[in-house]
Amino acid sequence: MIEKGCCSIQLTPRQEQIIEIVKKNTPITGEKIAEMLNVRRATLRPDLAVLTMAGLLEARPRVGYFYTGKTPYMLLAEEIRHLKVNDVKSVPVVVRGNISVYDAIVALFTEDVGTLFIVNDDGYLEGAVSRKDLLKVTLGQGDLHKIPVKVVMTRVPNVVTIKGEDSVYEAARRLVEHEIDALPVVEEPQNEEDKDKLKVIGRFTKTNIARIFVEMGEKA
Ligand code: ADP
Repeated sequence: MIEKGCCSIQLTPRQEQIIEIVKKNTPITGEKIAEMLNVRRATLRPDLAVLTMAGLLEARPRVGYFYTGKTPYMLLAEEIRHLKVNDVKSVPVVVRGNISVYDAIVALFTEDVGTLFIVNDDGYLEGAVSRKDLLKVTLGQGDLHKIPVKVVMTRVPNVVTIKGEDSVYEAARRLVEHEIDALPVVEEPQNEEDKDKLKVIGRFTKTNIARIFVEMGEKA
């Protein structure tokens, strides 16, 4: 399914011609397309296979080829909306709110992340702290060993989160809309009275998006 959208972006002139013929004559058999293009049916086989795999044409046995009406960009969009956060998320890096700003900065380096998520003793989300939040504190006069990280974090309910079953598209949209670098992937509790108890099960960042982008580029 992943291959669907990406290999159809660049069509050969003959594949473009086939699309035009099918658009005007839906449904049409392979035989008839070959006749209109003045080539043998066998010559067209690879092109028809590519167009069907790409999702631009649909083949129905004994009826012929249909034009699906989907452009390569629509198929790519479908693929992006189809991909789930759970398929690409990273391991979360969580700390307690009472660790010092100094230790939080050390954690950014040792864990190699740009955002830390803060959890309480039960492991539920309390806040998020970005590298810029920490950098800002270093510009002040305070003792970095004495300031707890919870003083500078963005607190729940202001933390923007995402669920594992949400689409990567929705996660990326939230990152852009809120101008942030990372989202905690959370598991929502079953019952209503526990609705503020969000278990952190992952991390979704701009790096995840960059990786998806590279993987899609490699499939072309
Ligand atoms: P930028 O680098 O674009 O300024 P940052 O990642 O530094 O973005 O975050 C900007 C602000 O957003 C910081 O105050 C940070 O605490 C906050 N923040 C970071 N992640 C989240 C999140 N998932 N939800 C809400 N706020 C967040």
